[in-house]
Amino acid sequence: MGTMLHNLSNSYPTTPSELTDHAINYSKTVQLPIDASNIHWTVSRHATKRAACCKFFPGSPDIIISLTWKAFQAYGWEKFKSIIRHELIHVWEYQTHGSTSHGSLFKEKAQQLDAPLRCDAFCPPRFYLICTNKTCQWKTIRHRASKTVTHPFNRYRCRKCGSPYTVEHVGTSIRWNTHSEYMRARQKIGIHW
Ligand SMILES: [Zn+2]
Ligand SMILES: [Zn+2]
Repeated sequence: MGTMLHNLSNSYPTTPSELTDHAINYSKTVQLPIDASNIHWTVSRHATKRAACCKFFPGSPDIIISLTWKAFQAYGWEKFKSIIRHELIHVWEYQTHGSTSHGSLFKEKAQQLDAPLRCDAFCPPRFYLICTNKTCQWKTIRHRASKTVTHPFNRYRCRKCGSPYTVEHVGTSIRWNTHSEYMRARQKIGIHW
């Protein structure tokens, strides 16, 4: 006999609201003495620079934790949990000390909980541009689907040696070398873009 009960610990978030549910449930398992009743979780579909961030409001106990959808797509749930731990350490430090930073207190807790030490270390690139000339080793990142991403070869070359370069979509590892290949890749990537 089947059950309709959804076991979150065995499922994988596929939508922003599922990501929020997973984050709330996961946060309850993290060993930190925090008051979670004032935490409001949101998912940003637009943010690209940080994997997540906390917002505090002076004079109010309310805290917003905003999770970046694209960072979740790039990292996957297992790795994203370490980012949630990072944000919860900010909450803990703020609730117990009235402010939070990436200082020594934060670092100590981050090491205990195996969380990343900085938020800005998590600036997930969406694309790599990789030189096709093996001896060149030019590789760079792009956060946006600019013309260098959508029109490689047709208009642009490696900045270092002038060879054509390959574009890689980080979330799916799908690659293309020309604009028409990009058009096909874009279709294939679909909602994971
Ligand atoms: Zn941080
Ligand atoms: Zn090159």
